[in-house]
Amino acid sequence: MIIGCPKEVKPQEYRVGMTPQAVAEAVRRGHSVLIQAGAGAGSGFEDDSYLTVGAEIVLTAPELFERAEMIVKVKEPQPQERKMLREGQLLFTYLHLAPDPAQTHDLLDAGVTAIAYETVTDAQGALPLLAPMSEVAGRLAPQMGAWSLQKANGGRGVLMGGVPGVGPAKVVVIGGGVVGTNAARIAAGMGADVTVLDMSLPRLRYLDDTFGSVFRNRYSSATALEELLQTADMVIGAVLIPGAAAPKLVRREHLVMMKPGAAIVDVAIDQGGCFETSHATTHQDPIYDVDGIVHYCVANMPGAVARTSTIALGNATMPFILALADKGWKQACTDDPHLLEGLHTHAGQLTNYAVGKALEIDV
Ligand code: NAD
Repeated sequence: MIIGCPKEVKPQEYRVGMTPQAVAEAVRRGHSVLIQAGAGAGSGFEDDSYLTVGAEIVLTAPELFERAEMIVKVKEPQPQERKMLREGQLLFTYLHLAPDPAQTHDLLDAGVTAIAYETVTDAQGALPLLAPMSEVAGRLAPQMGAWSLQKANGGRGVLMGGVPGVGPAKVVVIGGGVVGTNAARIAAGMGADVTVLDMSLPRLRYLDDTFGSVFRNRYSSATALEELLQTADMVIGAVLIPGAAAPKLVRREHLVMMKPGAAIVDVAIDQGGCFETSHATTHQDPIYDVDGIVHYCVANMPGAVARTSTIALGNATMPFILALADKGWKQACTDDPHLLEGLHTHAGQLTNYAVGKALEIDV
């Protein structure tokens, strides 16, 4: 199969769909891989690193889209990319179609067969192509929170781990899923005093069994949250209610209970955020102040560490890319019902019920 990996065109997107390692595997199996010139540069993979493993460097996106039978990307295709997709071509990338009717209609009009990373499942019912980015965002959250706590950034001027004779920062993580667990591990590793809140008792049991000596956990009630907010130096929002906007667990009136200069890192901002006072920010201008509390609300946190994110995503996508290239999408999806869960459009037909329901399109 001819696989094409274009340079991402969404603003501030530095990740790339295929690492040289993934290209090497595909070439070893007899596939041809086209990489658009400069596609990997934002992640530290220069064209040479692709050439040496057997890729062909293609200068323009139109040529790549024209020649490739399968397009592998990171972000949803942008309007100018959607015009280049066609029936019989396979697209494998993050799509997030439910809130995006324009993209959905363009993919249906193009007739392309589109498989979305975000709904591919695994045997545990988890989302293996979403998890790496939650791991990255979770591990990054205490790092950005620690920066936000610095005096020059408007924070309390508190060091995460304290020093001998001075206590550590108190960190509260709301939501103990993939983001929250990774955030708590790193915050604890930095020496902070960490408490994780979750509503799921099985999840609290897991956290207790696995990390009981590393950080505390508590059942997420309004009372527990209000109590913890009063002493927190940093609060990390990491809740998710699948298919719904994040619940506003911390309201504006809660901010006055908090210590002046405390930091909020709202990782759940991509689902609307779990702090009433959150609004999405960018890597260029990541923080703002509300009532003396520093807010960090970057919606695409993994982009800050594009190289780590590209490699982490590549590790997760590679087996699926190879299966699709080896077998073709029909056989690959027949053999693997978890991959089939990712199928969103084929030959002008929407094939995902949740998207159909959200956009009122027949499936
Ligand atoms: P997850 O499903 O693994 O975990 C979410 C957890 O929240 C679950 O354990 C759930 O029980 C818990 N929860 C639900 N309601 C709660 C409540 N009221 N109080 C406490 N806990 C509650 O999800 P995840 O992968 O960890 O993702 C968390 C959020 O981070 C999502 O909104 C996701 O979209 C977002 N995210 C953002 C970025 C970014 O760059 N900003 C990157 C990756 C993920």
